[in-house]
Amino acid sequence: MTTDKEPAAKPLDFIRQIIADDLASGKHRTTVTRFPPEPNGFLHIGHAKSICLNFGIAVENNSVCHLRFDDTNPGKESTEYVESIQRDVRWLGFDWGPHLYYASDYFDQIYDFAVQLITLGKAYVCHLTGDEIREYRGTLTEPGRESPYRNRPVEENLDLFTRMRNGEFDEGTCVLRAKIDMASPNIVMRDPVLYRILKSSHHRTGDKWCIYPMYDFTHCLSDMLEQITHSLCTLEFENNRALYDWVLDTLHTPNHPRQIEFARLNVNYTVTSKRKLLQLVNEGHVSGWDDPRMLTISGLRRRGYTPAAIRSFCATVGIGRRESWIDMGVLENAARDDLNLHARRVFGVLDPLRIVLTNYPEGQTEEMVAQNHPQNPALGERTLPFSRELYIERSDFMEDAPKKFFRLSVGREVRLRYAYLITCQEVAKDAQGRIVELRCTYDPATRGGSAPDGRKVKGTIHWVSAPHALKAEVRLYDRLFTAEYPDADKERSFKEFLNPASLTVLTDCMLEPGLAQAGPDDRFQFERQGYFCLDTATSAPGKPVFNRIVTLRDSWAKQSEAE
Ligand code: ATP
Ligand code: MG
Repeated sequence: MTTDKEPAAKPLDFIRQIIADDLASGKHRTTVTRFPPEPNGFLHIGHAKSICLNFGIAVENNSVCHLRFDDTNPGKESTEYVESIQRDVRWLGFDWGPHLYYASDYFDQIYDFAVQLITLGKAYVCHLTGDEIREYRGTLTEPGRESPYRNRPVEENLDLFTRMRNGEFDEGTCVLRAKIDMASPNIVMRDPVLYRILKSSHHRTGDKWCIYPMYDFTHCLSDMLEQITHSLCTLEFENNRALYDWVLDTLHTPNHPRQIEFARLNVNYTVTSKRKLLQLVNEGHVSGWDDPRMLTISGLRRRGYTPAAIRSFCATVGIGRRESWIDMGVLENAARDDLNLHARRVFGVLDPLRIVLTNYPEGQTEEMVAQNHPQNPALGERTLPFSRELYIERSDFMEDAPKKFFRLSVGREVRLRYAYLITCQEVAKDAQGRIVELRCTYDPATRGGSAPDGRKVKGTIHWVSAPHALKAEVRLYDRLFTAEYPDADKERSFKEFLNPASLTVLTDCMLEPGLAQAGPDDRFQFERQGYFCLDTATSAPGKPVFNRIVTLRDSWAKQSEAE
């Protein structure tokens, strides 16, 4: 029995509803979905949505999801990409089991299907140039014109297609086209190209082929051969569905997967197009595909996002048919929600200012007890060394502090978290007038941070013992683009909107010594500073580098409130 207090079950998205109906009606006994990336780049956050959908459906139905490389474009594809894609899907928490496939494994069968189409009088070899084919195709308002090669006899087409395969013709001199309808209101159906000549080596089939099937012809046949039940793709393929169905219907294939389109994921302040991401990498605007500012899966991983955070983000975004833009803040919040629960709290001083406690015995060290997660005692405690010389955050001191500044200023008292109350007595400056050191006194009666006389001290700041501190480099990231929709302006390149301040490198940060043991999977909250992790790609023994994953609050939301 359900009561009013129980949360209502989340309604199924429209794709899961179709699947539930198909299973209920007995149309399918189980589902077989697939994720079909082209290995021409690294996966990005948009792909994560498709991965979570396709593999998620498999998990929910106790069925399988295939990982299929849609590798029909030899010039742009490589094994480096094949490997990175497998690593990323696995890292996101999904498993294709034995179902790893390559469209290129079907090249022989796809060729045979093309021969069948020719034999059925449904495909022909065409010698129009690419430009001519476009010109003959017509427009949305005008029908196309038939190619002069459209009505050649089957025998001639079979002969020419064999010779195409045998390498007798140069690239661009002829193609195989489907014979459908040059007057179709759907331009995709105006005799689409099925095969083109490409005299380049393929990363898997080598030089076996010099003709390669087009995406539209390959995709439906690969789905069919793998007995996919639901072929889920993004909305830009909506018009291609007619061709998908035409190929399978015309060939009377033994099964016919159903193509269903959903809205792609768009995130503002970034670009999610492999072609554009590749430009950023190749032109050195970022350090690589895994640059922590890139919304690639590998970039997010290096930045410190957890797979759980990305999956939760994809669930929040949901599946629909309406194109929309998701605010980058939604992604960052998914990271915060996850990290807040699990990340151990530590002290890290990013912009250190040295302080000396003039009344603290020289050479003395104490161990202060600090909680690893004040809201989650199960994460335990640790000790922090405390001594006469400490670092605090430069911004926690102000010379001419207004009344409401509750941190340190000459004559004011502040709490060093988990340690003592201290009072600033004096400021030391260098020749340029820059503050180099604060001289303070501590109150020995306030060990642990509270005053026995009950006096109120509002401000609490973090600190690190100077002789024990772990020196580290810390990298702070901001959005890679300054424009909300960097690729919206057709007159200007998205690269004009790169944010010159997207990376800040702090080389002299002082961290609590325990962070020397940080491992690649550890995530920390540097109290008051955000969430951080080790940058395993650039850290060296004794020279740790930390990435800020995300700030503690959505600073951008705060900014727009203030405006
Ligand atoms: P890009 O547009 O970045 O070049 P693509 O669509 O060419 O990506 P594919 O490798 O063909 O990349 O994509 C594999 C699968 O991921 C496809 O089914 C595609 O629909 C899906 N996909 C790609 N981008 C997105 C996105 N932004 N949102 C949701 N799904 C996506
Ligand atoms: Mg694609």
